[in-house]
Amino acid sequence: MAFARSILDGSPDFVTVLDLDGRVRSLGRKAMERLSQDVANRIVGRSWADTWPKAHRAAVKQAVAHARAGTGHRFSCICPDRVGADTSWDITVDPVRDADGTITHILVISRDVSEQERMRREVNAARAQVAEVLESTTDCVIVVDRDSRVTYMNPHARTFVGRTSALKVGEVFWDAYPEYLTTDLKRRFEPVHARGEAVKFEMFAQRADIWLEIHAFPNGSDGMSIFFRDVTEARRAREEIVHLAHHDPLTGLLNRTSFNKVLEEALERGGEEVAVLLLDLDLFKEVNDTMGHPVGDALLRAVARRLRETVGDGSRMARLGGDEFAVVHIGDVGSASAFAGRMTACLRPPFEIDGNVIHLGASVGLARVADGRRSTDELFKAADIALYRAKADGGGTVRLFEDGMLERIRVRQFMKQELGGALEREELHLAYQPLLDLRSGTVRAVEALLRWDHPTKGSVSPAEFIPLAEETGLIVPIGDWVLQTACRQATEWPEDVSVAVNVSAVQFRCNSLPLKVAAALARSGLAPARLELEITESVLLHESEHNMRILHALKGLGVRIALDDFGTGFSSLSYLRLFPFDKLKLDRCFVSDIGRSSQSEAIIRAAGEMGRALSMVTTAEGVETADQLAWLKANGWSQAQGYFVGRPSRLPFDLAYRKGGQTELPSGSDARGKEQKTAPILGQA
Ligand code: C2E
Ligand code: MG
Ligand code: MG
Repeated sequence: MAFARSILDGSPDFVTVLDLDGRVRSLGRKAMERLSQDVANRIVGRSWADTWPKAHRAAVKQAVAHARAGTGHRFSCICPDRVGADTSWDITVDPVRDADGTITHILVISRDVSEQERMRREVNAARAQVAEVLESTTDCVIVVDRDSRVTYMNPHARTFVGRTSALKVGEVFWDAYPEYLTTDLKRRFEPVHARGEAVKFEMFAQRADIWLEIHAFPNGSDGMSIFFRDVTEARRAREEIVHLAHHDPLTGLLNRTSFNKVLEEALERGGEEVAVLLLDLDLFKEVNDTMGHPVGDALLRAVARRLRETVGDGSRMARLGGDEFAVVHIGDVGSASAFAGRMTACLRPPFEIDGNVIHLGASVGLARVADGRRSTDELFKAADIALYRAKADGGGTVRLFEDGMLERIRVRQFMKQELGGALEREELHLAYQPLLDLRSGTVRAVEALLRWDHPTKGSVSPAEFIPLAEETGLIVPIGDWVLQTACRQATEWPEDVSVAVNVSAVQFRCNSLPLKVAAALARSGLAPARLELEITESVLLHESEHNMRILHALKGLGVRIALDDFGTGFSSLSYLRLFPFDKLKLDRCFVSDIGRSSQSEAIIRAAGEMGRALSMVTTAEGVETADQLAWLKANGWSQAQGYFVGRPSRLPFDLAYRKGGQTELPSGSDARGKEQKTAPILGQA
């Protein structure tokens, strides 16, 4: 009995022993602890069923009846404990038999399962929540067991799957999509089954023709939960971003960064055969400035299209910015040059953009590894130098990099430096070239032409140093000096002789040009009507609104404005509408064709007529023969300038033109120049 008692007391549960009438005989220690001594005393001897709240009594009595009949019984219920808190009980009621098998007592074990119940409720609530999420998530969810049999599909998955197959819950996934058995899709899920690892990947769903992002997680029973969603759009956006990062948005060609990579890879693969071609459009800036950026953009796209057709493989071609394109070529020097030639040739036929017919042209600089340039940087630099050469040679051409070009660049660099001190060292002077008035046969004007006598290089041509002066900005102080000197010297000549001064487009960049001209006039005392400013089309091309204001301000001073080198630039005719020029100076390239090309003659005639119609003085430059002079006179031109009339000279002009053979030199300081002779006498003009 003591033994039985110790078992009763040792149990962690609430143990009650009943007699066969269902009365409480004894309570285990745990039961005693839970009930107060007082209550315990009252319970012992009473019907166990009566200790329960009324609602449970029937169940309790039934359990006792079962036990008495020899079968155990189990039930659960909730009832308030001593302090009134709901307690969940799991109760087993079993018969106790003696050695003969006769039922002598009934053993009731009541276990407080409140905590387990609470947890179960929580788990259920969480499950319900998860189920709700799964049902409503926009992701598709499929749960499969270890044999890939579908155990759950959320509504989205059902709709999605339903579009391409008849897969249902209970069926094996691979049976519905057998084609994936030949892909690596099954292998991708392996880590989930084999090692319980989550996996994430993207795959192309052939039947639906979309990209899916798939997350698969192991679930308890060796199966897995598969979440998937359509990421086709996201992938497209991602690809677009990647494309944008590597390509020029305007033309779709590679950008500089990716071009560098392509070039680096080509160099890594080795080979003397690698060449870089840099292509720059001739006249693009002019198109952009005059026709507007939309036309410029469309033109660049059209250029890219033609180049791509010529290059064939777009993966080696880039737009580096502006109108500069680059190609990596693999091949010997002959094939590289021929290739470059094809590139310039394909851009020669006119482009038609928005009804505009545009003639471009391109220059190409070519540099090869074989010539000793091994890094991307070196190749780029060399190709750039070659390109510079191609442009300097007039454009529309291909130049292969040579070491000599570096030497030329060094010389340029040197000359730039030297030019910086030329004014101070008084190495500059002006030469004057007469402009013959064809009606009167007299010289009414001279053009001031800048000369540079370098101490070691000798006389440097303005064609060579004016561009350097423009690049460095030195043209501004030098131009000021030319203006002041020409005005001052002109005051020493007869009053009906004007002086023409060339003004660079760079000088137009600052607002002060009109002020400087006014100051030069005021300081020298030269009448404004005796000063003529020669500008080229480039002044009208760039920042034309600003330049136009300056032109009007200059004209307002009373000076005359001449359009120089007419016919050499871009679309000359349109400029004549922009500003009322006083004079049109036809470039000498046309005059040299007189007597040789009827086309050129037709152009000269037309230009002359147009100039006259617009009330401009018409001046032809580069007159070198008597025949040319006669032709111009016969065709109504008003002025002639050229070696036949007179070379540029320190002596402003030969007064023999003016005074029927009487030689009368002006008294200016430069009048008795060192190196130039006076102009020839042209009595017959
Ligand atoms: P430009 O204003 O068109 O000047 C005429 C050029 O043609 C001068 O060249 C002159 O020497 C040359 N020339 C004149 N007659 C003949 C001829 O019959 N045959 C040939 N073949 N050439 C002839 P130059 O002096 O070498 O000047 C070249 C250019 O440099 C000028 O062209 C002008 O654009 C520029 N330039 C000269 N002086 C200045 C200046 O002070 N300032 C600016 N900004 N540019 C200047
Ligand atoms: Mg000129
Ligand atoms: Mg000229």
